Amino acid sequence: MKRLVVLGGGTAGTVIVNKLCHRLDADQWQITIVDRDDCHHYQPGYLFLPFGRYSDAQVSRPRHTLLPDGVDFVMAEVDRVDTAESSVSLTDGRVLGYDYLVIATGTSPRPDQTPGMQGSQWRRSIFDFYSFDGAQALGEALPAFEGGRFVVHITDMPIKCPVAPLEFAFLAEAYFRERGIRDQVELVYVTPLSGAFTKPVSSAQLGTMLEQRKVDVQTDFLLDYIDPEAKQLVSYDDRRIDFDLLVTVPLNMGADFVARSGIGDELNYVPVDQHTLMSQQHPNIFAVGDAAGIPASKAGSVAHFAAEIFIGNFLQHIEGKPMTGSFDGHANCFIESGDGKGLLIDFNYDTEPLPGKYPLPFLGPFSLLAESRANHLGKLAFRWLYWNVLLPGRPMPFPAHMSMVGKQREKVGGS
Ligand SMILES: Cc1cc2nc3c(=O)[nH]c(=O)nc-3n(C[C@H](O)[C@H](O)[C@H](O)COP(=O)(O)OP(=O)(O)OC[C@H]3O[C@@H](n4cnc5c(N)ncnc54)[C@H](O)[C@@H]3O)c2cc1C
Repeated sequence: MKRLVVLGGGTAGTVIVNKLCHRLDADQWQITIVDRDDCHHYQPGYLFLPFGRYSDAQVSRPRHTLLPDGVDFVMAEVDRVDTAESSVSLTDGRVLGYDYLVIATGTSPRPDQTPGMQGSQWRRSIFDFYSFDGAQALGEALPAFEGGRFVVHITDMPIKCPVAPLEFAFLAEAYFRERGIRDQVELVYVTPLSGAFTKPVSSAQLGTMLEQRKVDVQTDFLLDYIDPEAKQLVSYDDRRIDFDLLVTVPLNMGADFVARSGIGDELNYVPVDQHTLMSQQHPNIFAVGDAAGIPASKAGSVAHFAAEIFIGNFLQHIEGKPMTGSFDGHANCFIESGDGKGLLIDFNYDTEPLPGKYPLPFLGPFSLLAESRANHLGKLAFRWLYWNVLLPGRPMPFPAHMSMVGKQREKVGGS
């Protein structure tokens, strides 16, 4: 029997085992997936939890129910990968040998990495919404907020779903208007980037949207520490930003076992070829999804598209054939903008988000880089698609490679 071990049963790991279990001969292959717990969260739903728009149950499912029969689910914390022995040690003492290993352990918010973040104000006036319990705690704090300086903040890049803090700012602005207290709230958006987003065309568009909503944008802010007593963010160049309520995105990092195993970069991401997703050092190790050290966005859409390419390549690789699939860095993200509207961005390694229509030219129904009701409905519909189509490995209506169909290059520079 050949042994395939997949570390991480989140978006990428679940899609991979659901697809591969039909493609690998069960008499010859043993597939094992490892995760630390039995609760799979639909993380894009964390955005809506604080505003009471989703319930806990709508964003959580027992992990084992999402995994196929015939795949062994090992519930344990990964401690270390021994590449010389081709084995994985679990913290409970068990050891799993592998012939092929897929690392899909994602990235996590790490508030412990910033001095002062988890000090006296943590979950009192300092919150995050990148964790399930953080989003729940913020859901209790938001209704009690009656006014003052409300700061939405990114500690450092890269973060998963880099548009989520912008979405949070847009939704918060609409939420305070709905509550009739917008004029009592000073909204501030603090980012280490030099604009609202990473890519020029969309950064300009999203920056204008923040301006229209009277959100003060503080750019190039590199956080050194948080002073919880003074309720201030303090940068390395000693800029200070006051807050009454801070919603921060802590530093995001890959799993610590990646560092312990000597297979990661300084943020614990696994360096892999950006097109084949194969480890640069070990031809029997792949990294897929947020765990991969590739220059793509860390997003569920990327995890899904990369998983599709990985599967084709893996099936060739185990037969000793050259891998012909090439992941292009495709990302596709709805951006909720408040008042029942949203935007959509679609891009890859080489092409930044451009205006236009998606997936059909002129018809859409989705608008690229423009607000529309259809985009908002698309975002809401995605939760159903995630549980019922994407995770079970059924064919999705979005191709793995980015297409230029419907995109308008000529508008770039003019917008
Ligand atoms: C607030 C928010 C909003 C988002 N919105 C969007 C969006 O609109 N669109 C989009 O495309 N993406 C969005 N994302 C990002 C998306 O959820 C992730 O990019 C996606 O889940 C990545 O999949 P993954 O499989 O790489 O990692 P994950 O789904 O995070 O799975 C990693 C798994 O590994 C397990 N694991 C980690 N370490 C260990 C260990 N040591 N031992 C055992 N198990 C371990 C974890 O328990 C987890 O189950 C959002 C994320 C957040 C937080």
